Amino acid sequence: MKVLINEEEIHRGIARLASQLHERYGKEPLTIVAIMTGSLVMLADLIRSLEMPVRISLIRASSYRGGMTSGELTIENGDMLDIRGRDVVLIDDIFDTGKTLAEVTRRLEQHQPRSLSTAVFLNKRGNSVVNQAPDYCVFDIPNEFVVGYGLDYDDLYRNLPYVGVLEEADLVSHQRIYDPSK
Ligand code: 5GP
Ligand code: MG
Repeated sequence: MKVLINEEEIHRGIARLASQLHERYGKEPLTIVAIMTGSLVMLADLIRSLEMPVRISLIRASSYRGGMTSGELTIENGDMLDIRGRDVVLIDDIFDTGKTLAEVTRRLEQHQPRSLSTAVFLNKRGNSVVNQAPDYCVFDIPNEFVVGYGLDYDDLYRNLPYVGVLEEADLVSHQRIYDPSK
């Protein structure tokens, strides 16, 4: 697999995001709303670098259905924390077309947070179809399908500690891992 962003770079990137959030919010309590499952690893790393009191709320949004193509967006926020009057940071793994972040932002605004900012781990340049950009991006990347550090392909590779691009040979072995009956 081609490594696009290595562990050390990720570590420094998350530390940079944490200091940007410290700068903006100081010691004020923060509510982090994380879009599952992709932002799981970023969430775990980021919250351990934050010094203010932090509440965590998970919501689930899926737009990629078993593959590399974009599908219908579904959002479940079953037991989301109350965010009314709170400072909220919405985090996601990657900003691609921007539809997920724009739609989740719109829904969170309805709950009247005191403030709402958005932070993404990766920003894919040039694919946005919405007129909203994330407030914070840890890394800008070219338009390639990436996996690792929370990002999946067919629910695999989320546990890779780096961000990589699947190559031809990876896709062949992927079929074997993904479907053990083959
Ligand atoms: P958007 O709504 O911005 O088009 O897409 C955001 C979602 O699509 C992300 O949360 C992520 O789940 C998925 N996605 C977009 N690009 C990639 C990619 O390169 N790799 C993976 N694994 N998921 C992606
Ligand atoms: Mg996602």
